[in-house]
Amino acid sequence: MSDVKHTKLLVLGSGPAGWTAAIYAARAGLKPIVVEGIQPGGQLTTTTDVENYPGFRDVIQGPWLMEEMKAQAVHVGTEAVWDHINDVDLSVRPFRLTGDGGQVYTCDTLVIATGAQAKWLGLPSEEHAKGKGASACATCDGFFYRGKKVTVIGGGNTAVEEALYLTNHSDDVTLIHRRDELRAEKILQDRLFANEKITTLWDHTVEEFMLGGDPEALTGLRVKNVKTGEESIVECKGAFVAIGHAPATELFKGKLDIDDDGYLVVEQGTPRTSVPGVYACGDVMDKHYRQAVTAAGTGCMAALDAEKYLAELEFAEKEAAE
Ligand code: FAD
Ligand code: NAP
Repeated sequence: MSDVKHTKLLVLGSGPAGWTAAIYAARAGLKPIVVEGIQPGGQLTTTTDVENYPGFRDVIQGPWLMEEMKAQAVHVGTEAVWDHINDVDLSVRPFRLTGDGGQVYTCDTLVIATGAQAKWLGLPSEEHAKGKGASACATCDGFFYRGKKVTVIGGGNTAVEEALYLTNHSDDVTLIHRRDELRAEKILQDRLFANEKITTLWDHTVEEFMLGGDPEALTGLRVKNVKTGEESIVECKGAFVAIGHAPATELFKGKLDIDDDGYLVVEQGTPRTSVPGVYACGDVMDKHYRQAVTAAGTGCMAALDAEKYLAELEFAEKEAAE
């Protein structure tokens, strides 16, 4: 096993939250280490066009944006490490993290930016349809289906919000749910049912994402009525899977406060977790917005708070030594 690597600030994750935290920490002279994880660049590397990240008049590509964020972070003094952390000890100071190959990292402050992954239905045809009409983010991709018929799958708050959002682009939105009632909050349900652009297809599961044409694109969904077993086709150009997200918090179970949906709990309006010196930013602590720009914003907040915490620690140590 190699030597222990120590840093004042370690960032776990290399999505927009992680790189932004690193840029701020590096510019504050903290020489941060970013452990990139198994998805360097995070979720945006799985998409193509990004049109809502400020600063770019023309459409930019997700992977390119993430390369630029990394380059900026490295340019100002960040060390990027390609490793995946599989153990964390927050009960000791400095905090101790262990990578896949056994590399040990210690840090005075930890910024957790491990993100969240959208849940998918798990159909082989769905996998094939990703980027060709199947999406898990209406805010990100809804614009590409303006004027076209779209579907949303799910019955929670996210599904209803996605359906409502999509009516900004489409007059024909079908919400497909596997039961005959929604679990979304009543106020959202009221808005959904009042919206004439939205039709609800109850008691149906999606069996297949159907593709056709050249270039290949989504043409519709083969759906099944769970009560009768009858199958039918719902035509659509875009299908938005909204059946929940899984935040990457497994590592922190029993070590940090985690809410019922699996998200890290932070002090309201801050990135502070239940352990002083440990901060959370981006999708791992945000079940509502889940955008690159909000992830970047909270990454900035995490680095600024960590910097302040380190300064206070240093001051207290000096006082104690005098
Ligand atoms: P993520 O981007 O999820 O990054 C998490 C990072 O943590 C990864 O680098 C991963 O390797 C690392 N990690 C996880 N566990 C570990 C571990 N144990 N050890 C080390 N590293 C670890 N948002 C927009 O604003 N505009 C868009 O157009 C847009 N399009 C999208 C399209 C798609 C297909 C998807 C899936 C999402 C899209 N989003 C978009 C949402 C956006 O990508 C996320 O909100 C954003 O990436 C969240 O950033 P994050 O830094 O919190 O986490
Ligand atoms: P969720 O509440 O877990 O709902 C997931 C929905 O997807 C459920 O309706 C579920 O059906 C359905 N589903 C799950 N697996 C499925 C499958 N394999 N096939 C078909 N359907 C499936 O997830 P969410 O809507 O993303 O919300 C997550 C959390 O964030 C919740 O606490 C929510 O309140 C919160 N949130 C809040 C807001 C807001 O306050 N504005 C916005 C978004 C999210 P069943 O109902 O049959 O189980």
